[in-house]
Amino acid sequence: MGRSFDIAVFDGDGIGPEIMAPTVAILRQLADASPEYALSFTHLPAGAAHYARTGESLPAASLDAAGKADAVLLSAMGLPDVRYADGTEISPQIDLRKAFNLFAGVRPVRIGPGHQTPLKIPEGREVDFVLIRESTEGLFYTQGKGEVTENEARETMLITREVSEKLFRFAFSLAQDRKAQGQGKGRVTCVDKANVFRAFAFFRGIFDEEAKAFPDLVADHAYVDATALWMVQKPWDFDVLVTENMFGDILSDLGAGLMGGLGVAPSADIGLEQAVFQPCHGSAPDIAGQGKANPMAMILSAAMMLEWLGMRHDVLALTADGQRLRQAVEQVMQDGMSVTADLGGQATTAQTGGAVMAALA
Ligand code: NAD
Repeated sequence: MGRSFDIAVFDGDGIGPEIMAPTVAILRQLADASPEYALSFTHLPAGAAHYARTGESLPAASLDAAGKADAVLLSAMGLPDVRYADGTEISPQIDLRKAFNLFAGVRPVRIGPGHQTPLKIPEGREVDFVLIRESTEGLFYTQGKGEVTENEARETMLITREVSEKLFRFAFSLAQDRKAQGQGKGRVTCVDKANVFRAFAFFRGIFDEEAKAFPDLVADHAYVDATALWMVQKPWDFDVLVTENMFGDILSDLGAGLMGGLGVAPSADIGLEQAVFQPCHGSAPDIAGQGKANPMAMILSAAMMLEWLGMRHDVLALTADGQRLRQAVEQVMQDGMSVTADLGGQATTAQTGGAVMAALA
């Protein structure tokens, strides 16, 4: 028996518990079969339903336990009807990003043979890029603190040198790793609006400074509006994109749309000390409790967690199992027999989870 890792689990709201159940079952199966590592799971309370019951959205004990865990696995949180007195929704997933300084929101956009993409991808082209969304400041800085009077409303965007430097270093290192693995082109694109806003000219300036330490990579820039266009017209040109919080929030849903929907879009929020792995989608209250939710985005996020743990702790078996899990999901998607309604199939959440387990075996 190798090293054991404790995973903090937030089951979340709406479809959250439904997609978390098969994901944890798959992780248990992988760990049970491996002599190299073990996984234990601590389920922690938080979320909209918990807030409605107790008046607390993210209890201090849950935050503390999540901080001490080796990684955090989180399904979607929030319910449209459960709100604070100021009218905003409870969103512990954003509180966790701030509490653990998870500055790098990593959103891979990969279109394999089973993906129901609305794009026509020319022969010989491959869409495989990563969008990195800064996740602790930007326009989300004043979340919950915006000023609203009868006739005016103000929110403030914050870009700091400290966070931007860490963010760009992360982006360049990721591009280096991808290039070394034969997966990426060795290109990092800073996505901004530096033609209009001084804050983005500042952001771009820090990007250019950090780029000097990575002469083996191509560093370039693109405006966010043009990036939205190119993500649809020629997404195969991208490798690593790095951007501000709000721009990244919007572009990552566009990326999910290119892959065939939110049900297949994973993500990771990564800091220097901790990381939270969760699907890009929300709690989907419109389909909650019906067994219709696609668990693939959650399972792919768990695969990213295994890869991150493996790299961080130098456990090759974890990295390999993360890759195997991603391939198993892609196999089920390509096969098309056990996919949920959002991908045109009739399988239940549990059946899709079972098909991924079978593909692994
Ligand atoms: P949503 O992502 O929950 O749903 C958007 C649409 O996509 C819905 O039609 C839904 O049925 C569908 N969908 C989402 N995930 C799916 C899946 N796994 N399988 C099949 N279909 C899926 O977005 P929303 O409706 O805007 O938000 C619902 C709640 O989730 C809100 O309270 C919102 O604040 C919260 N939210 C949470 C997170 C998070 O926890 N990270 C992210 C976004 C929204």
